[in-house]
Amino acid sequence: MSTLRFRLLDEAFGKKAVQVESPVKRVSEYFGQNVFSYEKMKDYLSKTTFKTLSAAVKSGAPLSHDIAEEVAQGMKQWAIEMGATHYTHWFQPLTGGTAEKHDAFAEFNSEKQVIEEFSGKLLVQQEPDASSFPSGGIRNTFEARGYTAWDPASPAFVVGDTLCIPTIFISYTGEALDYKAPLLKALSAVDKNAVKVCKLFDESVTKVFSYLGWEQEYFLVDGALWAGRPDLVLTGRTLMGHDSAKNQQLEDHYFGHIPSRVLAFMTELEIEAHKLGIPVKTRHNEVAPNQFELAPIYEETNLAVDHNLLVMSVMRRVARKHGFRVVLHEKPFKGINGSGKHCNWSLGTDTGVNLLAPGKDAVSNLQFVTFVANVLKAVYKHNALLKASISSATNAHRLGANEAPPAIISVFLGSQISAVLDKVAASKTDDAIAIDKKAGLKLGVGQIPELFIDNTDRNRTSPFAFTGNRFEFRAVGSSENCGAAMTALNAAVAHQLDEFLKEVEGLIAKGAAKEKAIFEVVKKYIKESAPIRFDGNGYSDEWKAEAQKRGLDCETSVPIIFDSYLSKDSVKMFAETDVFNEKELHSRCEVKWETYVKKIQIESRVLGDLAMNHIVPVATEYQSRLLDNVSKVAALFSEELSTAMSSQNRLIIERIANHTNEITLGVANMINERKVANKIESEREKALAYHDNIVPRMDAIRYHIDKLELIVDNEMWPLPKYRELLFVR
Ligand code: ADP
Ligand code: MG
Repeated sequence: MSTLRFRLLDEAFGKKAVQVESPVKRVSEYFGQNVFSYEKMKDYLSKTTFKTLSAAVKSGAPLSHDIAEEVAQGMKQWAIEMGATHYTHWFQPLTGGTAEKHDAFAEFNSEKQVIEEFSGKLLVQQEPDASSFPSGGIRNTFEARGYTAWDPASPAFVVGDTLCIPTIFISYTGEALDYKAPLLKALSAVDKNAVKVCKLFDESVTKVFSYLGWEQEYFLVDGALWAGRPDLVLTGRTLMGHDSAKNQQLEDHYFGHIPSRVLAFMTELEIEAHKLGIPVKTRHNEVAPNQFELAPIYEETNLAVDHNLLVMSVMRRVARKHGFRVVLHEKPFKGINGSGKHCNWSLGTDTGVNLLAPGKDAVSNLQFVTFVANVLKAVYKHNALLKASISSATNAHRLGANEAPPAIISVFLGSQISAVLDKVAASKTDDAIAIDKKAGLKLGVGQIPELFIDNTDRNRTSPFAFTGNRFEFRAVGSSENCGAAMTALNAAVAHQLDEFLKEVEGLIAKGAAKEKAIFEVVKKYIKESAPIRFDGNGYSDEWKAEAQKRGLDCETSVPIIFDSYLSKDSVKMFAETDVFNEKELHSRCEVKWETYVKKIQIESRVLGDLAMNHIVPVATEYQSRLLDNVSKVAALFSEELSTAMSSQNRLIIERIANHTNEITLGVANMINERKVANKIESEREKALAYHDNIVPRMDAIRYHIDKLELIVDNEMWPLPKYRELLFVR
């Protein structure tokens, strides 16, 4: 008898919404109160230090020892006033989450008295050792040390009693061991090259920012029911579970009324996020039952990535307080939608121009078309790499699953922008570009109409879509650090812009007028990148065939997809933008393969244990009851009568035997396959073995377990069912 499941259900159903203490103040009064923002720095730093710091952040120049010392003192004072007793370098190792090692401010002075101590040296750099993080061979635990170094562009903040200082994490020899270091390099590359391109249009541009607005999807599961699912606890997803009779068919959850327990969670989450300066704005129910979304106002990409990581940890904390567990896995439940993290991305100048929004005059429209053409070319050339940047063991369940983008990267532009680009590509440069001494530049392709930024022209099946004033990279997974995708995208675009500049300069050197040279190269890019453009249904089989013909990357095996980091084009692009050297790329792939193996290995073990310790015993127990019934019937009635009376039970007994045999055999085979795979030296080959030989076996075992769930007495079933996990709130 499954008393545990019913106890958990009782507990879950009994929960009420937690009363959230509403801050009487308005959001503008507490927004950023836990952040050492520029505003606050003014109160804690001298005028000159503040000026030097903000100038250094803008230019990326290193800070002198004296300045760091004063910033450290100001930061310490503020943090102590905020109630902090500890500080930590907060960094983003390749495990995907964030890491922190707390140190108390306490230190002995010369008189052996304890004082609060924090220095510029401690602010700027630390050596957390942290030798157990994956490094892909860059550091062996016994040699090179890992260092964290302060990122002054992302402000420090207080969580609980701890001052958190955003940092990069690098090896003694300077190689990146994290997601932030390469991201900062990619952002700096795109800034540098985009400024040069902007200067063709407007000399006054001195900085280009990359912007990111993420949309975080997630599931909430009642904490008691979650605890009754070892697979959710240990792997973040359910490894078994038959479809609930009611799922998302009625589409009644999407944008529906937010249940009160969930609303209380969201309210507190927003308050906490706002205190940390994270501008969260939008909340709503998503398509699947118990699935929700949270989106902020977009920010500069480095800060946006930090804020996303921070939000994910705040979500976990607040959810527990409200008796929920937040599930960030890309595909926690089979048969219903998974979760993604759409990354809305754009480039903007320090003169306030969004380079991905059409302008009002010919010059700004030529600039807009230039940037769009470069993005198209970059995404086309590096489509395989972009896919690699979002691929993982967990996201593999979602991509290509008829709810999320397919595992092929293409760009949706929409009819308006497509028409403009096609017209540019088809026009003769001399007809299209006229430089009138008085009126200035005339663009014969006509004005770009004010875009309708609405939902009518949106294609939900596209992994990379133009949405009026930005591109939306939709293939990113909900649990991932979006820094990986942003690094690949910004670096690829940076590299492309450099190539563009060289080609334009080449034409100018041959005597072409500037605007005509730009137009020529843009035209060429539009034609060359045509294969990446696709506005149709990305879910269809026709598209898969068509994409193959167009030469787009159609690989679906995640371990093979990772190879794209090491392709000739990727290595060259990353080296020339100074984002990754080849050694770093190799080590990153090693980590990716290793992580892939470990994730599947854990899932496979959990599945084996649950199958043998939870499912087979319960099914056998139920089968015994039926057998008992059949033999008792046989003892009481004539053979003819008892055979007729027991026919259904006999059938079920046979079916149970069949499924439990298949499960037992399947688990034994899976364990053998694991043993074979574990002996493989190369991480890549091992990952391939896990992908090819273990994942399919897990699917087969699950099939039989899910069949048993439909047969076995509901009272006996040991694990909370989908209908309970997804509908209790
Ligand atoms: P939807 O679900 O309709 O795509 P949301 O409002 O949920 O839109 O999220 C859109 C995200 O895109 C928000 O984070 C928003 O701030 C962001 N965004 C809007 N304009 C830009 C832009 N120019 N660059 C980057 N992000 C943007
Ligand atoms: Mg949205």
